[in-house]
Amino acid sequence: MTAAIEAPDVRRLTGDQLRGWACALCGVRLYEDRALPPVTEVRHGLKVRIELWACAPTCLEASQKERRGPWL
Ligand SMILES: [Zn+2]
Repeated sequence: MTAAIEAPDVRRLTGDQLRGWACALCGVRLYEDRALPPVTEVRHGLKVRIELWACAPTCLEASQKERRGPWL
């Protein structure tokens, strides 16, 4: 059984993470990504659905790739 992914706190995410350029979980630049369950935030009284993306297949592999460089 796999543990459910805990939704990140949208208020703590950077602009890059909200735009899907960086992983919403660990902040690494995304080269291969997977969709996270969308989160809903209330902005100015309106519910806004936010699509979030994370490293594929796992954050750990992506961070190792980042250290070696994307060209390897
Ligand atoms: Zn990640």
